[in-house]
Amino acid sequence: NSVFHHVVQAPEDPILGVTVAYNKDPSPVKLNLGVGAYRTEEGKPLVLNVVRKAEQLLVKDSSRVKEYLPIVGLADFNKLSAKLILGADSPAIRENRVTTVQCLSGTGSLRVGGEFLARHYHQHTIYIPAPTWGNHPKVFGLAGLSVKTYRYYDPATRGLDFQGLVEDLRSAPSGAIVLLHACAHNPTGVDPTSQQWEQIRQLIRSKALLPFFDSAYQGFATGNLDSDAQSVRMFVADGGECLVAQSYAKNMGLYGERVGALSIVCGNADVAGRVESQLKLVIRPMYSNPPIHGASIVGTILKDSSLSQEWTIELKAMADRIISMRHQLLDALHARGTPGDWSHIIKQIGMFTFTGLNSEQVAFMTKEYHIYMTSDGRISMAGLSTKTVPHLADAIHAAVT
Ligand code: PMP
Repeated sequence: NSVFHHVVQAPEDPILGVTVAYNKDPSPVKLNLGVGAYRTEEGKPLVLNVVRKAEQLLVKDSSRVKEYLPIVGLADFNKLSAKLILGADSPAIRENRVTTVQCLSGTGSLRVGGEFLARHYHQHTIYIPAPTWGNHPKVFGLAGLSVKTYRYYDPATRGLDFQGLVEDLRSAPSGAIVLLHACAHNPTGVDPTSQQWEQIRQLIRSKALLPFFDSAYQGFATGNLDSDAQSVRMFVADGGECLVAQSYAKNMGLYGERVGALSIVCGNADVAGRVESQLKLVIRPMYSNPPIHGASIVGTILKDSSLSQEWTIELKAMADRIISMRHQLLDALHARGTPGDWSHIIKQIGMFTFTGLNSEQVAFMTKEYHIYMTSDGRISMAGLSTKTVPHLADAIHAAVT
């Protein structure tokens, strides 16, 4: 009795599904470490003060209207976003060879970039790290690219498999696209050192591979916006081309506002102009033009030096709280005499710790301790607090002994 009667129930999203299960659990001690969203010490979502201020300014400005933005979004926002990731003194920006379009957060920026490459780039193979954010293969696959992986994480060291990474990129076909996490790799929390980044850069350039950076955590890894952009800036400083997808979900706490940008650094200004004209043809039939509110908040903050300064302080406080959670969790495991080497908890950076716990151990912790996380053992450090660290440490201890 329905034309859709054949439609089968789809599985929950592996990450967002964790929250669905968490919401159903009546336990008062339940803890959600699945989704990567910042929480305060009190376990509450955080709206930055500077964001509230910017919103007040926007409300008071009666000249603001609700007209459509251009297809490429808010011009100020685009310029400021490129400066934020590439650096205020970037020669590529000065030479007008960067085109930036406002997109629907990080995901939308990756998708628009992927669709553009599928239409206009000669190589349709994109290499993504193994493992990576679970949405990457789907975003690029649906954009029309052929997705392959390169080795990234070594479970034995809970660190980078640098040798494997180099071997896999070395044997990639010339021109292939390579997805790189700009910093704070999700889910592993493992980033290359700057020497390793330099070797990766040389390898990528020598094989004419095309780097596509995913920058979802600028400022969240170290607390410093410039440090967290170093990888991208190395690849722009050499004069070569690349793509960068930026998200303001984490670093400005604008998750649901869906604010992001795609920048394509091109060889010259002429090419950049033509690339932008084609990006418009990708965007127009997808969603016509992006939403105005979130990008206006970001624009208001980034164009005002005192608001920007306030932002960096609040951003650093979020990063520092996460780093402090790492130390507290490691100390709590040491205090319990939990067997094994847990030093990776403080070596890994960014929002997540890749604990090394297997899916049975994760299932045990959920069943017995009401702690929710993805089955790969990834925990969001931003969801922890001083109050909940002991509960998590008890659960990990019980799971491994
Ligand atoms: N890339 C990575 C690596 C991420 O972790 C995320 C968010 N979880 C995103 C992109 C995109 O997030 P959003 O679309 O919310 O900006």
